Amino acid sequence: MPAYHYPDTLDEACTILASGEDAMVYGGGTAVQILVKQGVLFASDLVDIGRIPGLGEIERTSAGLRVGPLVTLRQMETSPLVREVAPLAAEVYGHVANPRVRNTASVGGNIAHGDYRLDPPTALLVLAATVELTSSRGKRSVPVREFFVDFQKTAVEPGEVITAIEIPRQPESAGAHFAKYSSLSANDWPAASAAALIVDGSRNRRQVRLGLGALSHIPLFTQFEVAADSPVEDVVSAAKEAATPLIDPIPDVRGGSEYKKRLGLVAVEEAVRFSWKEGHDGGRTPFWRRRR
Ligand SMILES: Cc1cc2nc3c(=O)[nH]c(=O)nc-3n(C[C@H](O)[C@H](O)[C@H](O)COP(=O)(O)OP(=O)(O)OC[C@H]3O[C@@H](n4cnc5c(N)ncnc54)[C@H](O)[C@@H]3O)c2cc1C
Repeated sequence: MPAYHYPDTLDEACTILASGEDAMVYGGGTAVQILVKQGVLFASDLVDIGRIPGLGEIERTSAGLRVGPLVTLRQMETSPLVREVAPLAAEVYGHVANPRVRNTASVGGNIAHGDYRLDPPTALLVLAATVELTSSRGKRSVPVREFFVDFQKTAVEPGEVITAIEIPRQPESAGAHFAKYSSLSANDWPAASAAALIVDGSRNRRQVRLGLGALSHIPLFTQFEVAADSPVEDVVSAAKEAATPLIDPIPDVRGGSEYKKRLGLVAVEEAVRFSWKEGHDGGRTPFWRRRR
């Protein structure tokens, strides 16, 4: 069994993480506890960062939001500040699992978990978020678009703690939508998911950004531009064309590779169709005001 530590300061946490043979951060514990119970977690030390002050705040910045790693997924879903500044993020965090998981799981633990099926990275990718990492060596920032390195491997190095996620403000004129398809139950992990954010591009053009979940061994990102007056059917075709070469799903209990490929393109279509319409309706319709 790993040794549990409860540091009161970030410095103390970094020191334990640097000295432990195979030390890991403990955030909300929803993933770690399952691995401990299954006997497949080979950590020497678990460093619970829950007592460290200042890691559970959502702050407004000049660029958007600074989110502490201990902010829960439920706080992201319900915070009026997140709904105002980055409504797509609020929507996507609200799609994770069920309220019980969302009330416990943390923003830092979610992204550090590194699972290819995670929902929140799809929004963080299109919003161009960055992850702040702190260790006894200092601080560094990694764009979310470079954060997922390989299957269940992220840019977090041994000894590092995620200390914030910076999310740029979602432009007022942007259209945004998240589509998630689950095979087993409504609260289940996705078999395919897609977030689209459509923002102003170069002159008379719109930039279409896509974040894809569960469709390869890591969360995926792609973007392209189209003429601002393009018919929606052309934008949907361009999105599918951009996504298709990236999609290489892992077959599992939620579906085979071919099924997930097709489902992935359905998710892309839904995300783009709604975002394009929304962007052309003269602004955002927050998801909590939308009729489903
Ligand atoms: C029943 C169930 C259903 C789920 N369904 C979904 C779903 O539909 N969509 C989805 O996206 N997710 C889903 N999840 C996954 C869930 O989102 C993650 O378990 C959760 O977000 C992990 O957050 P946590 O704070 O509990 O992390 P923890 O369990 O504490 O940690 C997870 C990993 O992150 C590391 N870590 C934690 N915090 C930090 C930090 N600050 N810095 C560096 N490393 C850190 C830990 O060392 C560990 O490797 C589901 C989980 C469960 C149990």
